[in-house]
Amino acid sequence: MFHLSNKTELDNILKKVLSGGRLDDGGLLFLLEEKDGKAVKEIYSAADTLNFRINSGNVSYVVNRNINFTNICGLNCKFCGYKRTKNSKDAFLLGYDKILEKISEGRKLIGIDEICVTGGINPELKSNPDYYFGLIKAVRNNFPELHIHAFSPQEIYELAETTGKSYAAVIEKLVGCGLNSMPGTAAEILAKETRRKICPEKINTAAWVEIIKTAHMLGVKTSATVLFGHIESNEDLVYHLSLIRQIQDETGGFTEFIALPFISAKTSLGKLVPREAVADDNGVLKFYAALRLYLDNFKNIQTSWPKIGVTAALKSLECGVNDFGGTLMEENITKSAGGKFGEYLSEGEITNLIKRAGKIPVRRDTLYNYININA
Ligand code: SF4
Repeated sequence: MFHLSNKTELDNILKKVLSGGRLDDGGLLFLLEEKDGKAVKEIYSAADTLNFRINSGNVSYVVNRNINFTNICGLNCKFCGYKRTKNSKDAFLLGYDKILEKISEGRKLIGIDEICVTGGINPELKSNPDYYFGLIKAVRNNFPELHIHAFSPQEIYELAETTGKSYAAVIEKLVGCGLNSMPGTAAEILAKETRRKICPEKINTAAWVEIIKTAHMLGVKTSATVLFGHIESNEDLVYHLSLIRQIQDETGGFTEFIALPFISAKTSLGKLVPREAVADDNGVLKFYAALRLYLDNFKNIQTSWPKIGVTAALKSLECGVNDFGGTLMEENITKSAGGKFGEYLSEGEITNLIKRAGKIPVRRDTLYNYININA
């Protein structure tokens, strides 16, 4: 039963947002806690209206390839099913030749505009930080036009530690080698206590924020992310999103917000807390809608088809989402955690899906410049 006082509060919140007002943290918490089916539909409708005002019916995507350069990692994040130790049978650290071969293949087969380079925090590379700089240089020398989106704040932290340089000096050196932008991953959940529980060895919130702001100040754009649907509370999510919105107010350096639902199947956290963000009205979709209503300084909210599947990703386009993400080609991290929705969608498949949802597919680059409208 939709309680009357709640109905009034919801009406007030949605009216405020739709007339250009900023949703406060209490309002966001209210949306996250709302469970009534009719109310949730109203939240979707408001998010859809707002999204249409900002992005018309355009749904963008990027033609890219993931390059996971190593799965060996010295950290032990509890939500991770990807990491291996050095002696695992399937452990790897790719040499530059292999990386260049994968990029060539991506260029030839699907005409990628971007590579997204991510990996584990490989202890072997502590004594060889040049691997990171050399990787970017090798790619840049061989593919002058390619957008290189690489290395999370965790890797910047590790490089600063091992080289004795400041975060700014590390980022500047990477840019000098050919880096274009960075993923805003390793954010996971920025609420401190929950962060300590799920990834105790990762950089703390203050370091993540400092590295991101440093990148933005140097003109290096990043994405913003959250890992949700595990043991976090709604208050944790409010804290996280409030921090992200503040940073965006200060720097304007985030290109998009990517909400990553926790995939529990093959992770230690999943065994402890057998719960997963479900793409229903009280899970992922309502969260996407709340993001659109709260993050008034973000033009782009991205869905995550490898984690929630294509059907739910299409539904999310009616809940405030305007970006379908990438073709990915070799998405190993979700797959390793037990994700069951595949690791590649062709450009044709993506554009057909977007059209089927009644929207206009737009091929974009990493920084959201439109390359081809109605592709
Ligand atoms: S999430 Fe990344 S840093 Fe954490 S254990 Fe997995 S590979 Fe390592």
